[in-house]
Amino acid sequence: MTTNERINKIVDILLVSNSVTALTGAGVSAESGIATFRDPDGIWSKFNPLELASIDGFISNPERVWSWYQYRVNIVNNSKPNPGHYALAEFHKYNLDFNLITQNVDGLHQRAGSENVIELHGSIIRNKCFNCNQIHEGAVINGNLLNNCKRCNGLIRPDVIWFGEMLPESEINTAQKLSSNTDLFFSIGTSAEVYPAADLPLIAKSNGAILIEINPVKTQLSNFADIRIELTSGKAMPLIIEEYKKRVE
Ligand SMILES: [Zn+2]
Repeated sequence: MTTNERINKIVDILLVSNSVTALTGAGVSAESGIATFRDPDGIWSKFNPLELASIDGFISNPERVWSWYQYRVNIVNNSKPNPGHYALAEFHKYNLDFNLITQNVDGLHQRAGSENVIELHGSIIRNKCFNCNQIHEGAVINGNLLNNCKRCNGLIRPDVIWFGEMLPESEINTAQKLSSNTDLFFSIGTSAEVYPAADLPLIAKSNGAILIEINPVKTQLSNFADIRIELTSGKAMPLIIEEYKKRVE
């Protein structure tokens, strides 16, 4: 099958699906210039994740953790959503039960216009209190000083999931429920290696969903996919939404 035939086939399935769920991973943001973490030359090959992204690392040196996150927030603020993000946001415009689950923490889906994004790993744009979990918006750093929680005076930390931490229970429950009740599941730009996110495509498939994988490289999910498009999200998703629009409009 050619890529075009695969795109047409996916749109055929989209047109008869009541519910569609997409899971996105680092590959989707890599096209916006945001480095991946687990690749051989990704961020964790150069930095020690336990110093920069763990509770112990934060307790032993909160300033170091903050300077790392400030650096990453700057990269995110200077990057833009790419055509893959925009194409996914367009699905929300149609009369389709479309749900977006992401492993990314950069907020680019929301900036592209996606709503109700389920963020499995939190968000580096948001901060929370280390003690009481109160969400804190806005600046947390005043020069080199860290602001403390206004409610309990605790330290403020990024609202992301660190190494050794559990995923947010409500998000993972929602993601599992959506995956088990969907007709069509897209796994996009994710290596499908990090659990429990990696289970979601298989939960969908075992409950009868058609599984589509969008990834330029093979993953351990590839053998389970009903249709694979070996392109990046930024190339594949616009093709899919354009074809879908042609057929519904
Ligand atoms: Zn607090």
